[in-house]
Amino acid sequence: MQTITTVAELRATLAKARDKRVGFVPTMGYLHDGHMALVEGSRAQCDVTVLSIFVNPTQFGPNEDLSTYPRAFLRDQKLCRDPGVTIVFAPDAQEVYPAQFETFIEPGEFAKPLCGAFRPGHFRGVATVVCKLFNIVQPDIAFFGQKDFQQCAVVRRMAIDLNLPVEIATVPTVREPDMLAMSSRNRYLNTEERRRALAISRGLLAAEAEFRSGERECEKLIAIARRHLNEVDRLQYLELVDVDTLEPASNPLSHPAALCAAAYVGSTRLIDNVILKPQVSA
Ligand code: AMP
Repeated sequence: MQTITTVAELRATLAKARDKRVGFVPTMGYLHDGHMALVEGSRAQCDVTVLSIFVNPTQFGPNEDLSTYPRAFLRDQKLCRDPGVTIVFAPDAQEVYPAQFETFIEPGEFAKPLCGAFRPGHFRGVATVVCKLFNIVQPDIAFFGQKDFQQCAVVRRMAIDLNLPVEIATVPTVREPDMLAMSSRNRYLNTEERRRALAISRGLLAAEAEFRSGERECEKLIAIARRHLNEVDRLQYLELVDVDTLEPASNPLSHPAALCAAAYVGSTRLIDNVILKPQVSA
């Protein structure tokens, strides 16, 4: 495992691996088993895995947690040693955004609902850094977590729209034993908040269970999740959207949909989702 901090050195190193299948796992660090599931996906399909650690300033709003976002570089490096990471790419902000940087990727409709409605400019920052990282790494496959469902949709759309020569793979959400979705931001939670945060996964998984028992009425599924989610300090959104369009799912559910939530527990904003896939009848 090699740690590289400059674009030039990464390019020079990867130039020697162009006959290999390169997998890419972009992260903001403070790694957990969710990130490692993406690494595992890459290891299974690729010869070389590049994991980036970069807390991207352009995807944070002015009142968000850029300065306090958890960072633990040495710990992250150790975690990457074992399970198949070939290169950790950890540039600083000047390396990614040199002076006079002024060109951004502007995503379209996919960036508007859900998190986009509450985090203006977030997906513009995400799309821009992901596009830059794709151009730097030039991976064959890039791995993203379903936990960030809308991010996956925006990145996939960008790759199609801009003819980026990369396959986008989505990896299922990894959860703690008590089902809270793993997230670097979980470390903000104190013991009591950590307990209350379970309302998010409990609500979404209760709706999923009802769906599996045959419920197809969108409002009923949302209501089941809401009953639990009302326990959080502030529910920012709870929406059932079509996975292909991100528009409100059509009722009754006949096409795969994502039940997505964002909620504050204390001052920590957490997101989670479940995908509901009705079987298409023959
Ligand atoms: P982050 O470091 O939070 O920006 O996440 C980096 C990548 O890891 C993104 O593609 C996330 O969707 C993915 N990821 C984060 N948490 C999880 C999780 N619990 N399960 C699976 N993937 C995750």
